[in-house]
Amino acid sequence: MIIGVPKESFPGERRVALVPAVIPTLAKAKLEVVVEAGAGYEAGFRDSDYEAKGAKVLPERAAVFAAADVVVQVLCHGSNDRTGKADVPLYRKGQALIGFLRPFGNLETLQDIARAGVTSLSIELMPRTTRAQTMDALSSMATLCGYKAVLVCADLLPRMFPMLTTAAGTITPARALVIGAGVAGLQAIATARRLGAVTSAYDVRPAAKEQVESLGGRFVELPLEAKDAQDARGYARAQDDSFYQKQRELLGRVVAESDVVITAAVIPGKKSPVLVTKEMVASMAPGSVIVDVAAERGGNCELTRPGEKVVEHGVTIVGWFNLASAVPYNASQLYARNISAFLAHLIQEGKLRLDLEDEIVRETLATRDGEIVNPRVREFFKLPPAGAPA
Ligand code: NAD
Repeated sequence: MIIGVPKESFPGERRVALVPAVIPTLAKAKLEVVVEAGAGYEAGFRDSDYEAKGAKVLPERAAVFAAADVVVQVLCHGSNDRTGKADVPLYRKGQALIGFLRPFGNLETLQDIARAGVTSLSIELMPRTTRAQTMDALSSMATLCGYKAVLVCADLLPRMFPMLTTAAGTITPARALVIGAGVAGLQAIATARRLGAVTSAYDVRPAAKEQVESLGGRFVELPLEAKDAQDARGYARAQDDSFYQKQRELLGRVVAESDVVITAAVIPGKKSPVLVTKEMVASMAPGSVIVDVAAERGGNCELTRPGEKVVEHGVTIVGWFNLASAVPYNASQLYARNISAFLAHLIQEGKLRLDLEDEIVRETLATRDGEIVNPRVREFFKLPPAGAPA
């Protein structure tokens, strides 16, 4: 069975779906790898590194799609809403496609994939279970986003993070606040602490307190109780408007006292709640920095412009997407491990086994036999159940 790795084509994307180090493991499972020339270059991997590990490098993108039984990408048609469509004519009937498909984004892109007869599996739909942990690329990428968000703040802030005692006097440490202590937020806390900032964090899920404190952060206690804050899978539940209103009021003082605010508060499948208003931005000292990790889902800050960096009331607000791509070496390394674990799970004796009894397959399978088969996706787009008469 042949696994194909095209070069990522989204403008500025620097990751690659498989790195040379995973190729020997795949070879043991009798999987051959073909890579488009230059695919790993931006992430720090040469064509010769792939060849040294046993992959075949092909100069033409079309040849990779033509050869592959399974195409693995980071941003596929769907999450790559700029250049992804150009791959559609290259798809082959019966081929499988694995990557970020943005399954709740645009129905048309999924229909394109289905119509081409491609069996697609969406990495975003990976269940957050212990069994699927090695395949959970959302968590891997969130970890890198949290790390990079802090570095962006450190770079833009007109002051240093650590405390320093010098002959010219003492430099006080920067104060960082992280709102939303999920995977990205926790990594942001750890990174801000390592750089020496006094770091606080808040999350609606009570379980987050212990995790924040274990990283040396101060948990901001708000006299506010979220109703059923956490669902059975460990995710936050959406709250009503009066809750968010109260939360903003209570967080106001903490935000005003912070030099850096990193917002990473997300509700799965919903627009992110606005937790930092324009008034709160105006209350911060000039030169302060907000990095809104939730920007792609609308943002947690009222003044975030998704995809952009703006300065409002003297505060720099960064709403860049895809911060993981700014650490492409490690992002590709982790993504490649997630993907090879997924391939090992799906492929047995050289064949793709799509056992719908298996939760991992059932939840991630997006298209098959010409149609969108995922029940959550069909429900989201208000399509009748798969196989039902139209
Ligand atoms: P996420 O990206 O969906 O959300 C980020 C954080 O924002 C969450 O901690 C959430 O509680 C918080 N949040 C939402 N609304 C908020 C508000 N109004 N104010 C403050 N914070 C708010 O979450 P995630 O990072 O993917 O992970 C969330 C949970 O899932 C965690 O408990 C994590 O440990 C768990 N998880 C489990 C697995 C696994 O078991 N394999 C994998 C990944 C994550």
